[in-house]
Amino acid sequence: MTCKEKLTEAIRIVEDFPKPGISFKDITPILLNPALVQEVIEELARPWKDKGITRVMGIESRGFLFGPGIAMQLNAGFIIVRKKGKLPPSTFSVSYALEYGEAEIEISDYAIRPGEVVLVHDDILATGGTAAAAASLAVNQGALVKGFSFLSELAILNGRERLVGFSTDVETILNF
Ligand code: AMP
Repeated sequence: MTCKEKLTEAIRIVEDFPKPGISFKDITPILLNPALVQEVIEELARPWKDKGITRVMGIESRGFLFGPGIAMQLNAGFIIVRKKGKLPPSTFSVSYALEYGEAEIEISDYAIRPGEVVLVHDDILATGGTAAAAASLAVNQGALVKGFSFLSELAILNGRERLVGFSTDVETILNF
């Protein structure tokens, strides 16, 4: 079986969670299979080898699961991008629009220096709003956003369009 086939089998789809009409993709069953975890990390890291990545940004919370593994494979540092109020000072933060209302994410102020080459990682690319906000945090610190990495995308939501202003290099293993 290919990695893609194994992932399709492992990911649990839960309809109408957390709200009616949402088809939730639960990636956590992957973690029950250590051989698959290793394979997924290698598959996620492969397109970015030799691209000069110095930092991988993982988005709370499921971007923390595979992000450190990808960063290790790339010999890059790993940064946690957290929801407002979780990190101790000092931080840089950015607000962004949600379907209803606003959200704010932040990074520690020491995490990214000017000239850093950044890969933004999360489990699922939906509307792209969160990944774009993470990318803007990196750009605001003078970093270059080399690209985006997701296990899967919900292509119907056109998340890639939100990311083109940062990078058109968007890698995903699966497409729902
Ligand atoms: P977005 O900013 O719309 O791209 O949403 C991205 C965040 O929401 C990611 O951190 C995903 O983990 C989560 N997310 C959005 N839609 C889904 C879905 N259908 N299933 C699981 N997670 C989702």
